[in-house]
Amino acid sequence: MSDTKEAFKKKKKLQILVPILGLIVAIALFLLSIRPAAVLVIIGIVIFSKINWRCPKCNHYLGKGSNPNICSNCGEELQ
Ligand SMILES: [Zn+2]
Repeated sequence: MSDTKEAFKKKKKLQILVPILGLIVAIALFLLSIRPAAVLVIIGIVIFSKINWRCPKCNHYLGKGSNPNICSNCGEELQ
C-alpha cells in the first residue's frame, strides 16, 4: 500500500472517530449545563474535520461528506 493510501486511511478513521467522541463530550457538557464549552467542542470538531479532510499529497480539501477514491485536484489514488 502506498504512503498516500496509508495516510488517507488514517484520516478517514479520524474523520469518523473525532466527531463521535466530540459529540459524546459535547452532549455530556450540555447535560452538565456547561453550554459554552459544548459549543466550543462542536466548533472544534468542525475545524478539525476541515483540516483533516485533505489530500495527503497536495493538501486539497476533499469535499463535504464524500468518500473519494481519487483526489479531484492532483488525481492521486486515495484508496
Ligand atoms: Zn491531491
